[in-house]
Amino acid sequence: MKYANRMNNLGTETAFEVLARARELEAQGRNIVHLQIGEPDFDTPGNVTQAAIDALKKGETHYTPSAGILPLRQTIADYIAKDRGMKVAAENVVVTPGGKPVLFYTIFACVNPGDEVIYPNPGFPIYESVIELVGATPVPIPLREQNEFRLDVKELEKLITPKTTMIILNSPHNPTGSVLTDKDLEQIAALAVKHDLWVLSDEIYSRIIYQGKHNTIAALPGMQQRTILMDGYSKTYAMTGWRLGYGVMEPQLAKHVARLCTNNHSCVTSAVQFAGIEALKGPQESVTKMVAEFQRRRGVIVEGINRIKGFKCLMPHGAFYAFPNIRDTGLKAKELQVQLLEKAGVALLAGTAFGAHGEGYLRFSYANSVENLRKALERIKKASTKWTSRTVQTA
Ligand code: PLP
Repeated sequence: MKYANRMNNLGTETAFEVLARARELEAQGRNIVHLQIGEPDFDTPGNVTQAAIDALKKGETHYTPSAGILPLRQTIADYIAKDRGMKVAAENVVVTPGGKPVLFYTIFACVNPGDEVIYPNPGFPIYESVIELVGATPVPIPLREQNEFRLDVKELEKLITPKTTMIILNSPHNPTGSVLTDKDLEQIAALAVKHDLWVLSDEIYSRIIYQGKHNTIAALPGMQQRTILMDGYSKTYAMTGWRLGYGVMEPQLAKHVARLCTNNHSCVTSAVQFAGIEALKGPQESVTKMVAEFQRRRGVIVEGINRIKGFKCLMPHGAFYAFPNIRDTGLKAKELQVQLLEKAGVALLAGTAFGAHGEGYLRFSYANSVENLRKALERIKKASTKWTSRTVQTA
């Protein structure tokens, strides 16, 4: 059978491949510590689950408007208005199955073939793959350790050409845990206004931040009409499997995106939308507790990593990832990823799973218990005594 050429341009997420291999090893009786997954290891708050159950029992089992039910869009608008300090109405909000579709739909709606889109590298791999899919040119902006993995605004300016139509930002950042400063946001906003660019701001980790408060570029002067603010429930409320996220954007784009929803997924599961109202309106203690626990684990993992031969790790400011420099091991990131999984029983990701600029780094997700983090650190430390720069031959 023949497949469409466009499938040649579609990337994927390595985390799912590593998970599959880890499961194979587990089926053979091996014990694996999972530090490859980008999802909180907490339960969805009980009040949120109950709201979905209640909605199902009340018969909320039918299609809803594609952009989401009005009470949820209004709840999200009120939340974003208050949390980010900007004016938002329900007409600005489109509810989607997870945050990811906002990336897909808005790039699809705003970017033409031949356009250039600037995106962070290392970064969430879906940016590059969707840019390629729509026939645009992905232009990576390197995030460097010496700049605490924040983009360099001068370098960004040099990458902007007459073909550039969009900049993608992600703060707090996957995979490095970096957070853009207010000054960074102001300078990026000035460039976006000057060159009349869209900004797609992936704020899925907005609540998982360890000092200060998350700010959005959308709230800066001249930015709201050109910014797509993406956020959602997956990380904040430990709801990855529920599939609930949203985009906040100017009303005309919201209409285009809603039309894409109609053409593709129709609407988000109706009962899940009611859970989304409860999550934002109900008690927030579970979020506070989860973030405090992540902060504790961050201390354990960063300290432990810095004791391993050949590893150096900066303190991340947000999300639940540590991104150590592993160059002194003499191994390539992918070799180390394979070796640590196959021989030491620790599943984590090579920095290159997030783009070429991730070479020389590994991503640890610390969304796992302190006990398991210590077990993983112990295993890696043991493995480190045998490291050579040879390519590791594994199955
Ligand atoms: N954006 C980033 C930076 C992420 O790390 C993730 C998930 O790992 C997503 C978006 C997707 O979020 P969701 O599960 O809500 O689609």
